[in-house]
Amino acid sequence: MNKVEKKRQKEQYIVEEMIRLYCRKNHLEEERQGRQMCPVCQELSDYAKLRSQKCPFMEQKTFCANCKVHCYKPEKREQIRRVMRFSGPRMLMHHPILAIWHLICSKREAKVKNL
Ligand SMILES: [Zn+2]
Repeated sequence: MNKVEKKRQKEQYIVEEMIRLYCRKNHLEEERQGRQMCPVCQELSDYAKLRSQKCPFMEQKTFCANCKVHCYKPEKREQIRRVMRFSGPRMLMHHPILAIWHLICSKREAKVKNL
């Protein structure tokens, strides 16, 4: 597997984990907790995966949420941003290494964007 593919898989994995976390804390009731997501979040997760699969900029960028191309539909983009805002800091507890990696990448990209 080449580097770009690895990055793609990593992104998909992180995004899915973030959506799952968000859903578990915001949408699902206690008794329904598990590996499942609610239909809305499941759809968002599938959408994010699809976008990532089709992304031609995988080599230069890290996260679709930070990407300047904005291939997300506005509505999905808003959803994913909400997920990132909620799950970003919480990922530190659940997946510290992934979260730090995400943080570094986001910061770096934000800097580039502001130039
Ligand atoms: Zn949900």
